[in-house]
Amino acid sequence: MDLYGGTINKLIEELAGLPGIGNKSAQRLAFHLINMPKEKVERLAKTMVEARTNVRYCKECFTLTEHELCPVCANQGRDHGTIMVVETTRDLAAYEKTGKYTGVYHVLHGAISPMLGIGPNDIRLKELMQRLQSDIQEVIIATNSSLEGETTAMYIGKLIKPTGIKVTRIASGVPVGGDLEYIDEVTLLRALEGRTEL
Ligand code: ZN
Repeated sequence: MDLYGGTINKLIEELAGLPGIGNKSAQRLAFHLINMPKEKVERLAKTMVEARTNVRYCKECFTLTEHELCPVCANQGRDHGTIMVVETTRDLAAYEKTGKYTGVYHVLHGAISPMLGIGPNDIRLKELMQRLQSDIQEVIIATNSSLEGETTAMYIGKLIKPTGIKVTRIASGVPVGGDLEYIDEVTLLRALEGRTEL
C-alpha cells in the first residue's frame, strides 16, 4: 500500500537502513526533513557528502581524519612509543577528552567475534603488528570489556608477547559490555592507570 508516494517511501527506506534507526524513527525523521526549510536540508545533505568525501583513515593509527595523519599522530609532543589499541574512533575520542593520555593510538575498527564471523583479518590487526617494527615501548590494550573486546585483547596479547614489547590491559573498572564512549573520564583514567601487564 503506497500511502506516502514513492519519494517519501524511498527516504524512509534509506533512513531505516542507518544503524539504530527503526522504521518508526525513519518515518519521524522523513516527515521532519520534509517540513524543514529547503536550505537547511540542502546544507545537511551537502555536509554528509563532504564528510564522506573528505574523511579518510590516518595512515598511522587508522582513526578517521581529514589529513594524511590525524592530529595525534602528527603531534611530535606525543609519546610515539606508547600505543593504545581501541576498537573505534569514538573510543579514541573518549580517551582524548580526558586530556591525560600522552601516547598515540591504534584503531582496530571492530573486535574479533567468532559468533558474528569477524576474525583477526577483518580488523586492523596486521597494521598494528607492522607498527610494532619501529621503536615501541608499550602497547596498552583498551578494547571494551565485552566478550568480543576481551577475546580481542587476549588474541593481541598472545600475538605481541613474543616480540618482547610490554603489553598491558586496562583495568576492569569499565562496566562489562560498556562502550568506552559512554564512560565518564574519571573511570577511563582509573582504568588506564590501573592497567596490568599481560
Ligand atoms: Zn593517527
